[in-house]
Amino acid sequence: MDRLSTCSARARRLRRFVNAFTLATPLGLALARYGRAVVVQGPDGLLLATNYRGFVPAPRAPAVTVGNVVLLRMSAEQAYRRPGLLEHESRHATQWACWLGPLGFLPAYGLASLWSLLRAGNAATRNVFEVRAGLADGGYAPHPEAQPE
Ligand SMILES: [Zn+2]
Repeated sequence: MDRLSTCSARARRLRRFVNAFTLATPLGLALARYGRAVVVQGPDGLLLATNYRGFVPAPRAPAVTVGNVVLLRMSAEQAYRRPGLLEHESRHATQWACWLGPLGFLPAYGLASLWSLLRAGNAATRNVFEVRAGLADGGYAPHPEAQPE
């Protein structure tokens, strides 16, 4: 099995459908257009919006996923050299689908980011969505006190 494949073909199709239906993927494509990215097909049914230059939603993050669209501040070649990062972003695409798109995922992710900010001083290391997507794969150092409470 392809190392980048994190889900079955059926799950990928369902995720692609839900992320399109909830308008998460169209939102991601609109952001890609705003950020003058070049969109190419990626692994797991993802769309890689390469060389993204937009300021929103995260001006410093190397990658942000919106629906099935991964906004990348790098080329596709650079992204494929970081398979862990693409796996991390693929897990976020699944989270977008599970939380039913922008109306569910964005407020939930925002609250999780706020919780992490209050607990850890950053928006990621105690954010349940980032933890479940894999902190190390996403390029985050695990929180030194991260352990079950
Ligand atoms: Zn992430």
